[in-house]
Amino acid sequence: MTGKLNLNLNLGAGVEPMLESGIDSAARPDVENVIILGSGPAGWAGAIYTARANLRPLLITGNEIGGQIATTTEVENYPGFPDGVTGPELSERMQAQAERFGATVELDFVTAVDVNGPPFTVETANGKRYRANALIITTGASPRKLGVPGEDRLIGRGVSYCATCDGFFFRNRQLVVVGGGDSSLQESLFLTKFASKVTIVHRRDQLRAGPALQRRADANPKIEYIWNTVVTNVSGENKVEAVTLKNVQTGEERQFPTDGVFVYIGHLPNNAPIAGKLAMDEHGYLITDKLMRTSVPGIFAAGEIQDSRFRQVATSTGQGVAAAMEVEKYLAEMEDHAYLQRQEPALDRATA
Ligand code: NAP
Repeated sequence: MTGKLNLNLNLGAGVEPMLESGIDSAARPDVENVIILGSGPAGWAGAIYTARANLRPLLITGNEIGGQIATTTEVENYPGFPDGVTGPELSERMQAQAERFGATVELDFVTAVDVNGPPFTVETANGKRYRANALIITTGASPRKLGVPGEDRLIGRGVSYCATCDGFFFRNRQLVVVGGGDSSLQESLFLTKFASKVTIVHRRDQLRAGPALQRRADANPKIEYIWNTVVTNVSGENKVEAVTLKNVQTGEERQFPTDGVFVYIGHLPNNAPIAGKLAMDEHGYLITDKLMRTSVPGIFAAGEIQDSRFRQVATSTGQGVAAAMEVEKYLAEMEDHAYLQRQEPALDRATA
């Protein structure tokens, strides 16, 4: 960190409720303390903690408020909700909690981030430009879709990308799982707790998944495979009733009745605004350390943009909390540093 920081820490006057969304730009500082990119569970958790630390965070939502949980019918595994809660309601509750403590929420989409800072610069689809001494990136990941007719229309009505979230609703039903990787097999095994039969449809005749998962899947009598096959259509009036399967070797197509389709053909981290600017792994996920720090000091990350393994609301909120606590420390250290810089000339004069 250089000694030339133009630090203007903008501490809020208190934790008075700030219930309205949208930015009163006149009231915003030239340089924000912290901007949070994304409005999934990691983003809201980061906003709640930085707001309660009087850092007056600005959260830029992205295109869909709530991230992946906003498209989840029912969340039954988030601690504290014994009767379950819908994804949108959980997201709204998290937002209300963040705003109650002074977070400002901007409905906008980040298009570019300049990581040369602090201060860092964030540009948005609405043509806004913000600067901040710290960033928490929580832009998440999106499940890769099949991209076939019927898929989007039947999301939440039999088409799912999350067995942990939706498997429970398929008790004694027959399911199709698409994909041949670790996720496909792991989630198929999970689904056998509920479903009467799980048919894994894979585009090749060899699995990508590791041998341990393959052995477990092979030993499970509820799991069957259809090889060299892709799904070309999902059909059903109000819920999934069948998929169209196409054998990629013969070109032959057939209808395959099913109650649900779980798609596990990989995730895509939402890294467009920061691609090539921060260290990432070979799949495009941000690399962070235990303190949620990215490769650039002052830029932190939490949730699925840096976690391809756990992908749970509870783990993402925990990571958001950790990132917020580290931001608080980072900004306090910046302030101490700037204070010492200001004192040095005076000390020099006094000792001259
Ligand atoms: P993945 O390893 O990339 O596997 C994706 C699967 O989907 C592959 O079998 C692929 O086929 C197939 N696929 C991709 N695009 C397709 C399309 N358009 N149509 C049909 N099939 C398509 O993804 P993942 O399973 O989500 O795993 C991601 C990472 O997390 C991996 O590194 C994995 O090891 C790790 N992970 C580990 C565990 C564990 O250790 N228990 C659990 C979950 C995930 P091809 O095989 O033909 O390419």
